[in-house]
Amino acid sequence: MTSPSATDMAEPSDIQRLTTLQAAIARAARDHGRDPASVTLTCVSKTIGADRLAPLVAAGHRTFGENRVQEAANKWPALREDARRNGSCLDLRLIGPLQTNKARQAVALFDAIETLDRPSLARALADEIQRAGRAPKLLVQVNVGEEEQKAGVPPRDADAFLAQCRTEWGLPVEGLMCIPPHGQQASPYFALLRTVAARNGLGVLSMGMSADWGLAIQLGATHVRVGSAIFGERPPLRPA
Ligand SMILES: *Cc1c(COP(=O)(O)O)cnc(C)c1O
Repeated sequence: MTSPSATDMAEPSDIQRLTTLQAAIARAARDHGRDPASVTLTCVSKTIGADRLAPLVAAGHRTFGENRVQEAANKWPALREDARRNGSCLDLRLIGPLQTNKARQAVALFDAIETLDRPSLARALADEIQRAGRAPKLLVQVNVGEEEQKAGVPPRDADAFLAQCRTEWGLPVEGLMCIPPHGQQASPYFALLRTVAARNGLGVLSMGMSADWGLAIQLGATHVRVGSAIFGERPPLRPA
């Protein structure tokens, strides 16, 4: 590496990119007749080190998404303390798959779990919520593209699973999350998620990423999950 050139110095900081994105999100909400306060930017911080996240926390950003329990456990307790000292309360959200044997750790660590997708996990989360006396908000992940390799409840099973979460385990699910098939037009999938949420009386819709958050806001997203548009491209992920 050579010493920083003038161009490098002019690179916007993470905070500048986050601020610009936040403004663009608010504008998109208004353009679609929505209250900007009804759309939350979840800053997806997977693979990003705590030293790079601390300035965002210090600047007052509250909502972050991580996709691995262990990585979050390594990074977030100290950052949460920083936030508390500044009088701010973080909203740390699990957006990656959760193994049943990590339910205890996830309940202790996260303020929201967006990837509830099967009875065994619902049972484990209900047990841990009872035991810990701490209840993260819960979203059910819907496999909107019915992709073999992707997690989530198939759309046709979503109503029954949501009912079962309520009646069998007393779990108050507040919304739905989806990751549409890669490289396809996302709007029909976002619309499908919204339809399933509406007919189940759910108000929270986590959908839209760096490439399609505007479309997701147009179609009703309350939470957009954006990583690379803030932090740049990530190195390829290691297998879980
Ligand atoms: C990584 C990730 C994101 C963010 O993706 P970008 O394209 O980097 O914005 C959103 N949602 C989930 C579930 C992810 O794993």
